[in-house]
Amino acid sequence: MVDRIRQQVLDKGEAQLAERKTHRPTPIDNSALPAGSPMTFYCVACGAVADIKPEEYLFPVRKLCSECEGLANLKLLRHVDEAQR
Ligand SMILES: [Zn+2]
Repeated sequence: MVDRIRQQVLDKGEAQLAERKTHRPTPIDNSALPAGSPMTFYCVACGAVADIKPEEYLFPVRKLCSECEGLANLKLLRHVDEAQR
């Protein structure tokens, strides 16, 4: 039962991951923005927006978007080095 649900999540998660990779947003060049602009960071796994921070952020930038984070937490995200998180 759990294996079947896990497989369904894996199948759907992989399909959605492929979709996100195909439709990556055009990255914003943070260095080209006016001073004080919020900074946008992109998911290392799929390229979607992972985090938006104020220019002088204090806490670490999220490396994964929430969807990839969920897959990683379920050990379903392959090819992402744990050290990048
Ligand atoms: Zn992602």
